[in-house]
Amino acid sequence: MKIRETIPFNIPYHTGKETIYIADCIKRGKTCGNGEYTNRCQNYFARTLGSLKCMMTTSCTDSLEMAAMLAGISSGDEVIVPSYTFVSTALAFARQGATIVFADSRTDNPDIDAEKIESLITPRTRAIVPVHYAGIACDMDRIMEIAERHGLLVIEDAAQGIDSSYKGRPLGSIGHMACFSFHETKNIQCGEGGLLAINHPDYVKRAEILWEKGTNRQEFFRGEVNKYGWVDLGSSFLPADYVCAFLWAQLEELESIQGKRKKLWEHYDSRLRGIKGLQCPEIPGYATNNAHAYFVICDTPDRRTRLIERLKRDGIHAVFHYLSLHKSEFARKSGWDTAVLPEADKYTDCLLRLPMFHDLTHEDVDRVCDTIINFYNACQS
Ligand SMILES: *Cc1c(COP(=O)(O)O)cnc(C)c1O
Repeated sequence: MKIRETIPFNIPYHTGKETIYIADCIKRGKTCGNGEYTNRCQNYFARTLGSLKCMMTTSCTDSLEMAAMLAGISSGDEVIVPSYTFVSTALAFARQGATIVFADSRTDNPDIDAEKIESLITPRTRAIVPVHYAGIACDMDRIMEIAERHGLLVIEDAAQGIDSSYKGRPLGSIGHMACFSFHETKNIQCGEGGLLAINHPDYVKRAEILWEKGTNRQEFFRGEVNKYGWVDLGSSFLPADYVCAFLWAQLEELESIQGKRKKLWEHYDSRLRGIKGLQCPEIPGYATNNAHAYFVICDTPDRRTRLIERLKRDGIHAVFHYLSLHKSEFARKSGWDTAVLPEADKYTDCLLRLPMFHDLTHEDVDRVCDTIINFYNACQS
């Protein structure tokens, strides 16, 4: 067993098959979008999610932008987004002219607190964007019920949600639309890549058009029209087929990749749960764990800072995560910074993510845990 000198936060995993499929893609003579591997990936997701249509995109940010366009979001509309999330969750809607209304997180995990959504709804509200933090499902029944009662769209930011579910239903299959990421920091990846899953029939046809630069090229390819042209807005949202060839290699090994990650996650959990002053991930009974991240919540911001330093001294790279968006420079400039969101602030200040990647070893996990346990023991004495 090779002993690692330093333990990085993430090392993207490669199955070895990526270059084989990329070479095949080149040999096929079609490297642009919507080719063989694009179709394989899209069919796989449509089948496993049970979605009406799945479209590969160049990133999750792009699929969120497509969703915002499909939702018809425009100037003056309000969109409810958790503050504790990545910029893209809000950006995609802000770009369409929406006013972003920030919601607080739950007390037990960083997901949007469904009980705090309804008080944020106004006659201008159009959509809710729940983010499944670390692949832990938001309370989707509650969110869908609120959305239905107020005539709102739900767009799941399932960027971290692959292979995870809510009451037995896959994440990304519940909202009207859902967005996934295959960025190199996610469980399966192709460097940069994303997916838009469409679960409501109203959005299928227009999605094809937005995807292909505002043209009805898809209808043309199916022989439904004899020429194609400019019919709507859109962009070039589709990735090159060799990007999908890369992802296909990872999809083929999803089960073993996930099995490995879950064992590492369980190892962390078995050693760290119960330490005084350290909160471990709380996964509600309706949710499963896809081992996207192992994170802890320190009792104070100062303790987190010192723990990061201590881990660093021991050659371990642990990182904090989002900075509450309602306190961002852009939110301030836009006048969206008035909300008081103590839970989002708590996660901003106190959450720490530990190294988690396919080739991490159980010895590595023990080393990280030893440092954390020693650190907390010293705090208590
Ligand atoms: C990674 C991530 C994104 C962005 O994904 P890209 O593919 O990099 O655009 C958006 N939202 C969340 C919650 C993410 O974790």
